[in-house]
Amino acid sequence: KLHNTILELKGNIRVFCRVRPLLPDDGPGTDTKAFSYPTSTEALGRGVELMQNGQKHSFMFDKVFMPDASQQDVFVEISQLVQSALDGYKVCIFAYGQTGSGKTYTMMGRPGDPEQKGLIPRSLEQIFQTRQSLLAQGWKYEMQVSMLEIYNETIRDLLSTNRPNPEMSNGKQYAIKHDANGNTHVSDLTIVDVCSTKEVSFLLNQAAQSRSVGKTQMNEQSSRSHLVFTLRISGVNESTEQQVQGVLNLIDLAGSERLSKSGSTGDRLKETQAINRSLSSLSDVIFALAKKEDHIPFRNSKLTYLLQPCLGGDSKTLMFVNISPDTSSAGESLCSLRFAARVN
Ligand code: ADP
Ligand code: MG
Repeated sequence: KLHNTILELKGNIRVFCRVRPLLPDDGPGTDTKAFSYPTSTEALGRGVELMQNGQKHSFMFDKVFMPDASQQDVFVEISQLVQSALDGYKVCIFAYGQTGSGKTYTMMGRPGDPEQKGLIPRSLEQIFQTRQSLLAQGWKYEMQVSMLEIYNETIRDLLSTNRPNPEMSNGKQYAIKHDANGNTHVSDLTIVDVCSTKEVSFLLNQAAQSRSVGKTQMNEQSSRSHLVFTLRISGVNESTEQQVQGVLNLIDLAGSERLSKSGSTGDRLKETQAINRSLSSLSDVIFALAKKEDHIPFRNSKLTYLLQPCLGGDSKTLMFVNISPDTSSAGESLCSLRFAARVN
Protein backbone atom coordinates (compact mmCIF):
# COMPACT_ATOMS: atom_id res chain seq x y z
CA LYS A 1 0.00 0.00 0.00
CA LEU A 2 1.18 3.47 -0.78
CA HIS A 3 1.59 5.94 2.03
CA ASN A 4 -0.82 8.65 2.89
CA THR A 5 0.96 10.67 5.53
CA ILE A 6 -1.72 13.26 6.07
CA LEU A 7 -3.99 10.60 7.51
CA GLU A 8 -1.39 9.13 9.77
CA LEU A 9 -1.16 12.15 12.01
CA LYS A 10 -3.98 10.97 14.21
CA GLY A 11 -5.59 7.57 13.81
CA ASN A 12 -7.84 6.99 10.85
CA ILE A 13 -10.78 9.15 11.84
CA ARG A 14 -11.01 12.83 11.08
CA VAL A 15 -13.75 15.39 11.39
CA PHE A 16 -14.19 18.44 9.18
CA CYS A 17 -16.71 21.13 9.99
CA ARG A 18 -18.35 23.14 7.20
CA VAL A 19 -20.49 26.17 7.92
CA ARG A 20 -22.62 27.05 4.92
CA PRO A 21 -23.28 30.66 3.89
CA LEU A 22 -26.44 32.43 4.93
CA LEU A 23 -29.16 31.97 2.28
CA PRO A 24 -32.10 34.19 1.33
CA ASP A 25 -34.34 31.33 2.49
CA ASP A 26 -32.97 31.61 6.00
CA GLY A 27 -35.45 34.44 6.39
CA PRO A 28 -35.27 37.83 8.02
CA GLY A 29 -33.97 38.25 11.52
CA THR A 30 -31.23 35.66 11.06
CA ASP A 31 -27.55 36.41 10.90
CA THR A 32 -24.19 34.71 11.06
CA LYS A 33 -23.20 36.45 14.29
CA ALA A 34 -23.81 33.21 16.13
CA PHE A 35 -20.49 32.03 14.64
CA SER A 36 -16.93 33.18 15.00
CA TYR A 37 -13.61 31.68 14.04
CA PRO A 38 -10.73 31.92 16.49
CA THR A 39 -7.61 33.51 15.01
CA SER A 40 -4.97 32.13 17.38
CA THR A 41 -2.25 30.25 15.50
CA GLU A 42 -3.23 26.98 17.11
CA ALA A 43 -6.89 27.28 16.17
CA LEU A 44 -6.38 28.78 12.74
CA GLY A 45 -8.58 26.98 10.25
CA ARG A 46 -9.52 24.41 12.87
CA GLY A 47 -11.59 26.22 15.46
CA VAL A 48 -15.18 27.38 15.47
CA GLU A 49 -17.12 29.23 18.16
CA LEU A 50 -20.86 29.32 18.58
CA MET A 51 -22.78 31.80 20.71
CA GLN A 52 -25.99 30.47 22.12
CA ASN A 53 -28.07 32.20 24.79
CA GLY A 54 -25.16 34.47 25.67
CA GLN A 55 -22.79 31.55 26.12
CA LYS A 56 -19.79 30.83 23.96
CA HIS A 57 -19.04 27.24 22.96
CA SER A 58 -15.68 26.50 21.34
CA PHE A 59 -14.82 23.49 19.22
CA MET A 60 -11.72 22.26 17.42
CA PHE A 61 -11.77 19.94 14.43
CA ASP A 62 -9.24 18.67 11.93
CA LYS A 63 -10.43 21.43 9.64
CA VAL A 64 -13.11 24.09 9.64
CA PHE A 65 -14.49 25.43 6.36
CA MET A 66 -15.90 28.91 6.60
CA PRO A 67 -19.00 29.93 4.61
CA ASP A 68 -16.93 31.24 1.71
CA ALA A 69 -15.13 27.92 1.12
CA SER A 70 -15.85 26.70 -2.41
CA GLN A 71 -16.56 23.12 -3.41
CA GLN A 72 -13.05 23.00 -4.87
CA ASP A 73 -11.54 24.28 -1.58
CA VAL A 74 -13.28 21.41 0.19
CA PHE A 75 -12.34 18.83 -2.40
CA VAL A 76 -8.65 19.73 -2.22
CA GLU A 77 -8.71 18.66 1.42
CA ILE A 78 -10.18 15.23 0.71
CA SER A 79 -8.53 14.38 -2.59
CA GLN A 80 -5.72 12.40 -0.94
CA LEU A 81 -8.22 10.39 1.03
CA VAL A 82 -10.15 9.62 -2.17
CA GLN A 83 -6.90 8.70 -3.85
CA SER A 84 -6.14 6.15 -1.15
CA ALA A 85 -9.10 4.04 -2.34
CA LEU A 86 -7.02 3.36 -5.47
CA ASP A 87 -4.20 2.18 -3.22
CA GLY A 88 -6.54 -0.41 -1.76
CA TYR A 89 -7.90 1.36 1.28
CA LYS A 90 -11.49 1.29 2.44
CA VAL A 91 -12.71 4.83 2.81
CA CYS A 92 -15.91 6.30 4.28
CA ILE A 93 -16.85 9.95 4.02
CA PHE A 94 -19.99 11.03 5.88
CA ALA A 95 -22.00 14.23 5.85
CA TYR A 96 -23.76 14.82 9.17
CA GLY A 97 -26.04 17.71 10.11
CA GLN A 98 -29.57 18.99 10.39
CA THR A 99 -31.77 19.23 7.28
CA GLY A 100 -30.81 22.32 5.28
CA SER A 101 -27.25 22.50 6.62
CA GLY A 102 -25.60 21.59 3.29
CA LYS A 103 -25.02 17.82 3.40
CA THR A 104 -26.38 17.13 -0.09
CA TYR A 105 -24.71 20.27 -1.41
CA THR A 106 -21.39 19.04 -0.03
CA MET A 107 -21.81 15.52 -1.40
CA MET A 108 -23.62 16.07 -4.71
CA GLY A 109 -23.44 19.81 -5.27
CA ARG A 110 -25.89 21.94 -7.19
CA PRO A 111 -27.05 20.29 -10.40
CA GLY A 112 -26.22 22.12 -13.63
CA ASP A 113 -23.39 24.22 -12.21
CA PRO A 114 -19.93 22.64 -12.72
CA GLU A 115 -18.33 25.06 -10.21
CA GLN A 116 -20.69 23.77 -7.57
CA LYS A 117 -20.24 20.08 -8.22
CA GLY A 118 -19.97 18.20 -4.96
CA LEU A 119 -17.53 15.67 -3.58
CA ILE A 120 -19.07 12.62 -5.25
CA PRO A 121 -18.67 13.82 -8.87
CA ARG A 122 -15.29 15.42 -8.10
CA SER A 123 -14.01 12.23 -6.48
CA LEU A 124 -15.09 10.15 -9.44
CA GLU A 125 -13.43 12.52 -11.90
CA GLN A 126 -10.19 12.33 -9.98
CA ILE A 127 -10.33 8.55 -9.72
CA PHE A 128 -10.89 8.11 -13.44
CA GLN A 129 -8.09 10.55 -14.23
CA THR A 130 -5.67 8.78 -11.92
CA ARG A 131 -6.69 5.45 -13.32
CA GLN A 132 -5.74 6.72 -16.77
CA SER A 133 -2.35 7.91 -15.58
CA LEU A 134 -1.62 4.65 -13.72
CA LEU A 135 -2.09 2.64 -16.92
CA ALA A 136 1.47 3.55 -17.89
CA GLN A 137 2.70 1.78 -14.72
CA GLY A 138 0.79 -1.35 -15.62
CA TRP A 139 -2.21 -0.82 -13.35
CA LYS A 140 -5.61 -1.88 -14.62
CA TYR A 141 -8.66 -1.05 -12.54
CA GLU A 142 -12.23 -2.24 -12.58
CA MET A 143 -14.87 -0.14 -10.87
CA GLN A 144 -18.41 -0.83 -9.75
CA VAL A 145 -21.02 1.50 -8.37
CA SER A 146 -24.03 0.84 -6.17
CA MET A 147 -26.34 3.32 -4.48
CA LEU A 148 -28.80 2.62 -1.76
CA GLU A 149 -30.92 4.38 0.74
CA ILE A 150 -31.61 3.29 4.31
CA TYR A 151 -34.97 4.47 5.52
CA ASN A 152 -36.52 3.29 8.79
CA GLU A 153 -33.91 0.53 8.95
CA THR A 154 -34.87 -0.81 5.53
CA ILE A 155 -32.79 -0.72 2.37
CA ARG A 156 -33.94 0.69 -0.99
CA ASP A 157 -31.96 0.12 -4.15
CA LEU A 158 -31.59 3.46 -5.94
CA LEU A 159 -30.21 1.92 -9.13
CA SER A 160 -32.92 -0.66 -9.57
CA THR A 161 -34.57 -0.23 -12.96
CA ASN A 162 -37.97 -1.48 -11.86
CA ARG A 163 -39.12 1.65 -10.10
CA PRO A 164 -40.83 2.43 -7.85
CA ASN A 165 -39.06 -0.09 -5.76
CA PRO A 166 -40.38 -0.07 -2.24
CA GLU A 167 -38.57 -2.42 0.06
CA MET A 168 -39.77 -6.03 0.08
CA SER A 169 -42.87 -5.42 -2.04
CA ASN A 170 -41.33 -7.76 -4.60
CA GLY A 171 -40.00 -10.16 -2.02
CA LYS A 172 -36.48 -8.70 -2.03
CA GLN A 173 -34.75 -8.81 1.30
CA TYR A 174 -31.58 -6.84 0.68
CA ALA A 175 -29.76 -8.94 3.24
CA ILE A 176 -26.30 -7.69 4.20
CA LYS A 177 -23.46 -10.23 4.30
CA HIS A 178 -19.75 -9.82 4.82
CA ASP A 179 -17.41 -12.48 3.45
CA ALA A 180 -14.10 -13.65 4.87
CA ASN A 181 -12.19 -11.21 2.65
CA GLY A 182 -13.97 -8.25 4.16
CA ASN A 183 -16.17 -7.72 1.12
CA THR A 184 -19.78 -6.75 1.65
CA HIS A 185 -22.64 -8.21 -0.35
CA VAL A 186 -26.16 -6.89 -0.29
CA SER A 187 -28.40 -9.47 -1.90
CA ASP A 188 -30.41 -8.26 -4.91
CA LEU A 189 -28.66 -4.89 -4.94
CA THR A 190 -27.95 -3.49 -8.42
CA ILE A 191 -24.23 -3.19 -9.08
CA VAL A 192 -23.10 -1.38 -12.21
CA ASP A 193 -19.68 -1.58 -13.89
CA VAL A 194 -18.43 1.90 -14.69
CA CYS A 195 -15.58 3.10 -16.91
CA SER A 196 -16.13 6.85 -17.13
CA THR A 197 -17.32 9.91 -15.25
CA LYS A 198 -20.15 10.18 -17.77
CA GLU A 199 -21.52 6.78 -16.81
CA VAL A 200 -21.39 7.71 -13.15
CA SER A 201 -23.22 11.02 -13.74
CA PHE A 202 -25.92 9.03 -15.48
CA LEU A 203 -26.23 6.79 -12.42
CA LEU A 204 -26.25 9.76 -10.04
CA ASN A 205 -29.14 11.25 -12.00
CA GLN A 206 -30.96 7.96 -11.96
CA ALA A 207 -30.51 7.70 -8.20
CA ALA A 208 -31.62 11.30 -7.66
CA GLN A 209 -34.79 10.58 -9.61
CA SER A 210 -35.39 7.39 -7.73
CA ARG A 211 -34.91 9.30 -4.50
CA SER A 212 -37.36 12.02 -5.42
CA VAL A 213 -39.99 9.44 -6.35
CA GLY A 214 -39.74 8.35 -2.75
CA LYS A 215 -39.90 11.96 -1.64
CA THR A 216 -43.41 12.68 -2.87
CA GLN A 217 -44.62 9.24 -1.87
CA MET A 218 -43.10 9.17 1.52
CA ASN A 219 -43.11 12.65 2.95
CA GLU A 220 -39.71 14.19 2.29
CA GLN A 221 -38.11 10.81 2.68
CA SER A 222 -34.80 12.00 1.31
CA SER A 223 -34.02 14.08 4.40
CA ARG A 224 -35.13 11.21 6.61
CA SER A 225 -32.95 8.57 4.99
CA HIS A 226 -29.25 7.81 4.64
CA LEU A 227 -27.87 7.71 1.12
CA VAL A 228 -24.91 5.42 0.60
CA PHE A 229 -22.89 5.76 -2.61
CA THR A 230 -20.34 2.95 -2.98
CA LEU A 231 -17.52 2.64 -5.48
CA ARG A 232 -15.68 -0.68 -5.45
CA ILE A 233 -12.28 -0.63 -7.02
CA SER A 234 -10.19 -3.63 -7.93
CA GLY A 235 -6.82 -3.10 -9.45
CA VAL A 236 -4.17 -5.44 -10.76
CA ASN A 237 -0.69 -4.55 -11.92
CA GLU A 238 0.11 -6.51 -15.03
CA SER A 239 3.86 -6.29 -14.65
CA THR A 240 4.25 -6.82 -10.88
CA GLU A 241 1.07 -8.90 -10.39
CA GLN A 242 0.23 -6.78 -7.35
CA GLN A 243 -3.47 -6.60 -6.55
CA VAL A 244 -5.50 -4.03 -4.66
CA GLN A 245 -9.13 -3.83 -3.62
CA GLY A 246 -10.37 -0.49 -2.41
CA VAL A 247 -13.78 0.87 -1.52
CA LEU A 248 -14.99 4.44 -1.45
CA ASN A 249 -18.23 5.08 0.43
CA LEU A 250 -19.77 8.53 0.32
CA ILE A 251 -22.69 8.90 2.69
CA ASP A 252 -25.30 11.64 2.90
CA LEU A 253 -26.82 10.99 6.31
CA ALA A 254 -30.42 11.62 7.38
CA GLY A 255 -31.12 15.01 8.98
CA SER A 256 -29.95 14.99 12.57
CA GLU A 257 -32.60 17.39 13.89
CA ARG A 258 -34.52 16.49 16.97
CA LEU A 259 -38.23 16.70 16.19
CA SER A 260 -40.33 18.38 18.83
CA LYS A 261 -41.63 15.67 21.08
CA SER A 262 -45.23 16.77 20.93
CA GLY A 263 -45.20 16.83 17.12
CA SER A 264 -44.03 13.26 16.64
CA THR A 265 -46.55 10.49 16.79
CA GLY A 266 -47.17 7.30 14.84
CA ASP A 267 -45.05 6.92 11.71
CA ARG A 268 -43.22 10.17 12.29
CA LEU A 269 -42.19 9.05 15.76
CA LYS A 270 -41.06 5.67 14.44
CA GLU A 271 -39.08 7.44 11.74
CA THR A 272 -37.40 9.76 14.22
CA GLN A 273 -36.54 6.89 16.51
CA ALA A 274 -34.99 4.98 13.59
CA ILE A 275 -32.90 8.01 12.59
CA ASN A 276 -31.78 8.76 16.12
CA ARG A 277 -30.92 5.14 16.64
CA SER A 278 -28.82 4.84 13.53
CA LEU A 279 -27.06 8.17 14.03
CA SER A 280 -26.28 7.36 17.62
CA SER A 281 -25.05 3.87 16.68
CA LEU A 282 -22.82 5.51 14.11
CA SER A 283 -21.34 7.79 16.75
CA ASP A 284 -21.02 4.86 19.19
CA VAL A 285 -19.12 2.87 16.56
CA ILE A 286 -16.80 5.70 15.58
CA PHE A 287 -16.23 6.59 19.24
CA ALA A 288 -15.44 2.96 20.12
CA LEU A 289 -13.06 2.74 17.14
CA ALA A 290 -11.30 5.96 18.10
CA LYS A 291 -10.92 4.65 21.67
CA LYS A 292 -9.71 1.30 20.25
CA GLU A 293 -12.25 -0.56 22.35
CA ASP A 294 -12.52 -4.34 22.12
CA HIS A 295 -16.19 -4.44 21.35
CA ILE A 296 -17.41 -2.27 18.49
CA PRO A 297 -21.23 -2.23 18.33
CA PHE A 298 -21.57 -2.52 14.54
CA ARG A 299 -24.72 -4.60 14.75
CA ASN A 300 -26.89 -1.93 16.34
CA SER A 301 -28.05 -0.44 13.04
CA LYS A 302 -28.25 -1.30 9.33
CA LEU A 303 -25.95 1.57 8.46
CA THR A 304 -23.11 0.55 10.78
CA TYR A 305 -23.50 -3.11 9.90
CA LEU A 306 -23.41 -2.34 6.18
CA LEU A 307 -20.26 -0.27 6.59
CA GLN A 308 -18.57 -2.51 9.16
CA PRO A 309 -15.63 -3.61 6.97
CA CYS A 310 -15.09 -0.02 5.87
CA LEU A 311 -15.00 1.44 9.37
CA GLY A 312 -12.68 -0.85 11.31
CA GLY A 313 -9.14 -2.04 10.68
CA ASP A 314 -6.91 0.18 8.60
CA SER A 315 -9.80 1.86 6.83
CA LYS A 316 -10.09 5.64 6.74
CA THR A 317 -13.07 7.63 7.93
CA LEU A 318 -13.93 11.28 7.52
CA MET A 319 -17.01 12.97 8.92
CA PHE A 320 -18.22 16.33 7.72
CA VAL A 321 -20.35 18.12 10.22
CA ASN A 322 -22.47 20.54 8.24
CA ILE A 323 -23.78 23.61 10.03
CA SER A 324 -26.46 26.18 9.21
CA PRO A 325 -25.24 29.65 10.18
CA ASP A 326 -28.56 31.26 11.11
CA THR A 327 -29.15 32.13 14.73
CA SER A 328 -32.43 30.23 14.77
CA SER A 329 -30.48 27.01 14.11
CA ALA A 330 -28.02 27.63 16.96
CA GLY A 331 -29.58 24.93 19.16
CA GLU A 332 -29.32 22.28 16.44
CA SER A 333 -25.85 23.51 15.47
CA LEU A 334 -24.68 23.06 19.02
CA CYS A 335 -26.02 19.48 19.03
CA SER A 336 -24.22 18.75 15.75
CA LEU A 337 -20.94 20.22 16.95
CA ARG A 338 -21.13 18.23 20.17
CA PHE A 339 -21.86 15.06 18.23
CA ALA A 340 -18.88 15.69 15.98
CA ALA A 341 -16.61 16.66 18.84
CA ARG A 342 -17.43 13.35 20.47
CA VAL A 343 -16.29 11.31 17.50
CA ASN A 344 -13.26 13.50 16.82
P1 ADP B 1 -29.20 19.16 3.50
O1 ADP B 1 -28.86 18.14 2.45
O2 ADP B 1 -28.28 19.11 4.68
O3 ADP B 1 -30.64 19.11 3.90
P2 ADP B 1 -28.75 21.01 1.35
O4 ADP B 1 -27.45 20.51 0.86
O5 ADP B 1 -29.95 20.63 0.56
O6 ADP B 1 -28.97 20.62 2.86
O7 ADP B 1 -28.62 22.59 1.49
C1 ADP B 1 -29.73 23.43 1.76
C2 ADP B 1 -29.68 24.62 0.81
O8 ADP B 1 -28.49 25.36 1.03
C3 ADP B 1 -29.64 24.21 -0.65
O9 ADP B 1 -30.39 25.16 -1.39
C4 ADP B 1 -28.17 24.30 -1.00
O10 ADP B 1 -27.97 24.54 -2.39
C5 ADP B 1 -27.71 25.47 -0.15
N1 ADP B 1 -26.30 25.34 0.27
C6 ADP B 1 -25.81 24.45 1.15
N2 ADP B 1 -24.50 24.61 1.35
C7 ADP B 1 -24.12 25.62 0.55
C8 ADP B 1 -22.88 26.27 0.27
N3 ADP B 1 -21.74 25.88 0.87
N4 ADP B 1 -22.88 27.29 -0.61
C9 ADP B 1 -24.01 27.67 -1.23
N5 ADP B 1 -25.21 27.12 -1.02
C10 ADP B 1 -25.29 26.10 -0.15
MG1 MG C 1 -30.11 16.63 1.74
